[in-house]
Amino acid sequence: MGLDTWARAAGSGTLAPVPVRATKRGDERTPLAGEYDVLICGASFAGLAVARELAGSDARTLVVDRYEIGERQTSACAAPTEWLENLGLGESIRQTFQDLVVHTPHTTVRMELPWTFSTFDYRELCRLLWEQCGDAEFETAKVESRRGGPDGTHIVATDRGDVTAPLVVDALGWKRVLAGNAFQPPDAPLSRGLEVHPWGASGELEIWIDRDYVPAGYGWSFPARDEVRVGVGSFDPRHHVKEPTVRLAADLEREAVRYQGNWIPHQLRPATESGVFFAGDSAGHCLPLTAEGIRTALYFGIACGRELRRVVEGRATRDTALRRYSAFSADHEWQFNWMLRTQKAVPRVPPRLLAAALRFPLSSDAFVRWSFTHYLNIAHPSFALASTPASSSALSAAA
Ligand SMILES: Cc1cc2nc3c(=O)[nH]c(=O)nc-3n(C[C@H](O)[C@H](O)[C@H](O)COP(=O)(O)OP(=O)(O)OC[C@H]3O[C@@H](n4cnc5c(N)ncnc54)[C@H](O)[C@@H]3O)c2cc1C
Repeated sequence: MGLDTWARAAGSGTLAPVPVRATKRGDERTPLAGEYDVLICGASFAGLAVARELAGSDARTLVVDRYEIGERQTSACAAPTEWLENLGLGESIRQTFQDLVVHTPHTTVRMELPWTFSTFDYRELCRLLWEQCGDAEFETAKVESRRGGPDGTHIVATDRGDVTAPLVVDALGWKRVLAGNAFQPPDAPLSRGLEVHPWGASGELEIWIDRDYVPAGYGWSFPARDEVRVGVGSFDPRHHVKEPTVRLAADLEREAVRYQGNWIPHQLRPATESGVFFAGDSAGHCLPLTAEGIRTALYFGIACGRELRRVVEGRATRDTALRRYSAFSADHEWQFNWMLRTQKAVPRVPPRLLAAALRFPLSSDAFVRWSFTHYLNIAHPSFALASTPASSSALSAAA
């Protein structure tokens, strides 16, 4: 898998946040072919969460990604601490925050959260997740398309050849490659996010709701021990975020270096289509309003993996798994819609009113506790624990 190729930042002693190409090139790219029980396309949060649930089964599982595992960071990497701990990923944590500091043009509010957020190191988290994936195999390949194969199997075309499997997962992100993506920015329900990763330190997890930076969206500063992830996200895909990201970094006296950005889906999409399972951003599993998509990618990835495991162990058919997983995802639609309505409403609130609301009663301890507890419940960390009552009852409710 080339873990040895993961570089360490010169002199810092920590894993480098900058992508260092480890992906096979030229002659190293031998043809790829074969028949597997499960093919998981995408080796980030969602894909690795699916693979982890298959560990210890007899399934022959292949995970493919265009980059080596952990090579390309896909986010600011902040998630509820309990999710990381419940998945045994605590070692990847870089910094933990009990408070969220919210800045608007007219006020700054410190909210004490009922649970903590942690920033983590992407490479390390992926390495730890992969270690839990048992005998799954990994190959670097660019996934291009899918077509039907014999006996209800799928043939997935990659730039290294065709792979066949009856159970196929698209965890490739917002492009939803295996369904022939119908979304084209900027005319699609996508937000856009960009951030820089200057070296430095800070003790505060901060966000800015300020139209000077972005008319609809927010800016952030997420410290991760020896670097700070500073960025801006716009709910409106037509609004460019490079200039405000650079400006926010300058306002914080941070260097605008080591960029990373992407489109972020803000609308739920069907979790199954044409016999393929979709998890994470490919199914629009990123939460609107907050653009928090890591824990939901893990959550739906786990749910998908548990369904696949039932099939490979002969406890369910593929059709049953497709139906159950699809229903499980759709069961959350009202929560995603509610978040989307709030995402649309917040930018319309006049800044002075927003400041007043944040000061009182919104910032009151009871309200913060209530709202953040409900927010966490959308994809609760207890789901990560094997066979929890939460997971079995949620999945059987979807059956
Ligand atoms: C700037 C920014 C900051 C963010 N910060 C946060 C945050 O702090 N917390 C949070 O919860 N969410 C954050 N998000 C959202 C979060 O990054 C996503 O929701 C999350 O990464 C989704 O996980 P995923 O596994 O579905 O997809 P991804 O993480 O996007 O992974 C997709 C994988 O598929 C691979 N891939 C894509 N296309 C192909 C192909 N054709 N062939 C082969 N491989 C392919 C990619 O290399 C990648 O490994 C942020 C998003 C952005 C843009």
